[in-house]
Amino acid sequence: MMERVLDNCIFCKIAAKQIPAKLAYEDEELLAFHDINPAAPVHLLIVPKKHIASLADCAPEDAGLIGRMSLLAPKLAAEHGCGFTRDADGAPAGGFKTQFHVGPDGGQEVYHLHMHVLGGPRPWRAQR
Ligand code: AMP
Ligand code: ZN
Repeated sequence: MMERVLDNCIFCKIAAKQIPAKLAYEDEELLAFHDINPAAPVHLLIVPKKHIASLADCAPEDAGLIGRMSLLAPKLAAEHGCGFTRDADGAPAGGFKTQFHVGPDGGQEVYHLHMHVLGGPRPWRAQR
């Protein structure tokens, strides 16, 4: 499959290593890095290397990609100290939030698909 990389897209540039980011994960398909303006103690962005503008631009063949982004979130959250766990009594503990912003009314500013992973001790700064 041809990978589309846009010259004017900041996340394509991060994926192409043309601009730096604090990486948390990388494989052939996905990249995760720390948000430059974190809204929580842990704030990661999971990004496909191929350019897709938004969740609303995903096609049926992107279902696997979105699934793999979702499965990466709990793994990275655990590695960054905000995994979902259970305490000694079996009560739920820890945890994190995932978000896709879609379009202006969804607060999307960067039009390259990304999943926010937010976690850590509250309070968190409210997100746009
Ligand atoms: P949104 O499009 O609203 O889902 O959010 C885009 C996110 O990308 C914001 O939280 C920004 O702080 C973050 N961001 C923008 N540029 C960079 C960058 N160069 N490195 C890391 N995070 C960035
Ligand atoms: Zn892009």
